[in-house]
Amino acid sequence: MKDKNLPGINTICVHTGEVKDEQFKGAVSPMYMSTSYAFEGVDVKRYPRYFNTPNQEMLCKKIAALEKTEDGLIFGSGMAAISAAMFAFLKTGDHVIIQQVIYGGTYNFIVSEFDKFGIEYSFTESDKAADFKSLIKENTKILYIETPSNPLLGITDLKAIATLAKENGILTMIDNTFASPINQNPVDFGIDIMLHSATKYMGGHSDISAGAIAASKEHIAHIWKTAINFGGNLSDHTVWLLERSLKTLNIRVKEQTRNAQEMAEYLEGNSNVDRVYYPGLKSHKQHELAKKQMKGFGAMLSFELKEGIDAMAFQNALQLIKPAMSLAGLESTTVSPAQTTHALLTEEQRLERGIKDGLIRFSVGIEEAKDLIEDIEQAIKSLQ
Ligand SMILES: *Cc1c(COP(=O)(O)O)cnc(C)c1O
Repeated sequence: MKDKNLPGINTICVHTGEVKDEQFKGAVSPMYMSTSYAFEGVDVKRYPRYFNTPNQEMLCKKIAALEKTEDGLIFGSGMAAISAAMFAFLKTGDHVIIQQVIYGGTYNFIVSEFDKFGIEYSFTESDKAADFKSLIKENTKILYIETPSNPLLGITDLKAIATLAKENGILTMIDNTFASPINQNPVDFGIDIMLHSATKYMGGHSDISAGAIAASKEHIAHIWKTAINFGGNLSDHTVWLLERSLKTLNIRVKEQTRNAQEMAEYLEGNSNVDRVYYPGLKSHKQHELAKKQMKGFGAMLSFELKEGIDAMAFQNALQLIKPAMSLAGLESTTVSPAQTTHALLTEEQRLERGIKDGLIRFSVGIEEAKDLIEDIEQAIKSLQ
């Protein structure tokens, strides 16, 4: 789809895929909670697990428009979307190549489920396309990437991966959660299937669990056939809440992204901080690549405090910023990846991936940067 045919981003957020209230002309989409729909005079059999209730069907249009794809599907969680997408295209004897640094839940899904079904997998040693290339075999079906990746904000070259896959007749999937469609549209670079934990930026208020897929009509139709068997659909009540959340997606994420740049620069200049990982910093190894493929650098960053300042004690001393599970809410949160998202890896596996025990992942919210800075300063001071 060409950009010029699409309305502006805020217009998509607010209006695309609205369910029209024909009866009362209400300003917002009515919520259809019915699990039963008459056969009479219709050619679609509507049912929640078929992903086609009025609210689901319409919200998929907004998801697709945000990712500039033909179609979309929404799920009860990010993992429901990721697992349905992978299993839809895989069978016994197939092989998948996965980027080494990925979301912990996706890693666990692969290593604990694929063996049971005789699906082969290889993890790359880095996020470089050459690493993917060296692992391609006759039976390779999917190249799976995540960029920016969790928690070190590594950047994978979308164009290089898409080109490599196309040359070899392989499908590409990306976990686009961290960037959100506001900061990155991988389809522009030839990536086939976009996956999201809508629990994160799409939901944005830390009160919804949901997942989303955006892809061509053909790929979505194929995933749908598997998805209805796994039954990971989202309740229509939550579909409605997600639609409401998406209305502010652009203004939220833009503000969070602006804040994150400011925080990254502040942290980089702070003598108590050893290292900052943020693609918007010139010091980031792949800053130039990020500039090419991202519209904004996102609102996630990670940092290491200088030796002698305990990361856990620091987080506990914060008063405004909350050490908390999950990310991408309006409120700023931090997490120690070694103790949470990557806790199931051994220390050796973590270090292989560059995840030190003292690493702090920072999900920047919409609070004013000056208040966040003040909180960080008082926390460091309290430990000295
Ligand atoms: C949270 C997350 C997921 C999983 O999503 P759930 O909604 O928790 O199932 C997948 N990928 C990334 C990058 C995430 O942050």
